[in-house]
Formats: sequence, structure tokens, C-alpha cells
Amino acid sequence: MKLTVVGYWGAFPNKNEATSGYLINSEDYNILVDCGSGVLSEVQNYIDLSKIDAIILSHFHADHISDIYCLQYEAYLSLKMNIRKKPLEIYAHDLDSKFNGLNYKNATVAKRIDDKTVLNFGDLNVSFKKVIHEVPCFAMRFQEKNKVITYSADTEWCNEIIDLSNGADLFICETSLFNNLKGQVSGHLTAGEVGKIANMSKVKKLLLTHFPHYGDLEQLVTEAKEEFKGEIYKAKTGLTFEL
Ligand SMILES: [Zn+2]
Ligand SMILES: [Zn+2]
Repeated sequence: MKLTVVGYWGAFPNKNEATSGYLINSEDYNILVDCGSGVLSEVQNYIDLSKIDAIILSHFHADHISDIYCLQYEAYLSLKMNIRKKPLEIYAHDLDSKFNGLNYKNATVAKRIDDKTVLNFGDLNVSFKKVIHEVPCFAMRFQEKNKVITYSADTEWCNEIIDLSNGADLFICETSLFNNLKGQVSGHLTAGEVGKIANMSKVKKLLLTHFPHYGDLEQLVTEAKEEFKGEIYKAKTGLTFEL
């Protein structure tokens, strides 16, 4: 399985970049995970939109979903022109009234997920755990044969993300905060906390993402490194991992 970072900013995108978006390719399936601001434009550097089989959304904050609405028009038009062969499936929890808005003219179809859901895309299985954020939010675990990618989505410290990242080959974890904000902002993790979780879960590679728009981002790596001795990567547009 292959992971490509499409966007990695928290809140809003920097110039020519995007907020949360990750492309996972697994044999016959292409899955877009989160679809924030700028993702629809950026993702076309890596794949034709008509080849995206499904989208999985972690939660309904705008930095994770805002480009969904234009992507629905694209799905509608490309189906009509026979470029897209089947409706686009959009998986998300239904604990928000925006869930129904994921259906659009039979071109996109809303599909509900929860803690018990296991999605199967060929050999790729996706499972979920509800994490702790300002609004309902689900982290995801992607498993293809013996390889695992865990995506934290947006969360503060919780047992669920420790469980879900256990033994992951790649742990994509939100790193919204520098250590000096520990205990002051709910719903997000400090770099030190991210390192601690990666260490407790014995992950192989740690990918820091969902960055703040202030401060020296290298400092986030330094703070995570104090707690986790494995490989640490800082998200950037187009960064890929082959597992
Ligand atoms: Zn976010
Ligand atoms: Zn959020």
C-alpha cells in the first residue's frame, strides 16, 4: 500500500498547499482520506479524480471536508460524461447533520461508519475508533496483509488512539501544538504527547502532520524526538510512503 500526503495544514492551507488530505493506493483501490481546503486541486497531481473509489472523512470540521462540495460537482459531471464509471462513495460518521449532505444527485453516496465498522477494499481493511475532539471524530486503521497505517485524525490524548496505533508500520498523527501549550488547548495533541503515544504503541514510523501556522515546525520534530526514538517524518506535500 502506498500513502501520499496531499495536504497537512491545520485550520487553513498555506499558499499553494492544502489542509488535511491523504491518498492511499492499495492494489485496485484508491482511497482519499479527508478532503480539506486545497485537496481537490492538489490531489490531481497524483491521480485522476475519476479514479478515486472512495473517500473517508474523519469528522466535519472544514479543514477536513471543505473540498467535498466541489468534488461532488466533479463526480456528477464526470459520471454524466462517462469518465467516472460508478458513484463516489463517501464514508463518514452520522453524528452530524452534515452527513446527509454527502449525498448528491446519486453521484456521491453517503455511507455511515462507526466504532464497529470494518470496510473492505480488496485486501485493504479499514477500522475505526472514536477519539476525543471538539466534535465527534474517528481515527482510522488501514491494514493490508501484515502492513498497518494508523491515522489519528484530530484528537487529544486518549486510550483509543493508543490502541488503534498499536504496532503500526506508519502512524500519521496530528501535531497541532508545541509542548508549551500542553494542558491549555483541548481536542489536540502536543508534539511531546505524539512522541509518547508513538513510543507506547511501538510504531515503526511516525509522520507528524496537521501543523500550526506559527513557530518553527522543526521544533515539533525535536519535541516528538524526546519521547520517540524511531523514525520521525514531518509532513509535506507529495511525501510518499510505500509499505
Ligand atoms: Zn483539523
Ligand atoms: Zn477538527
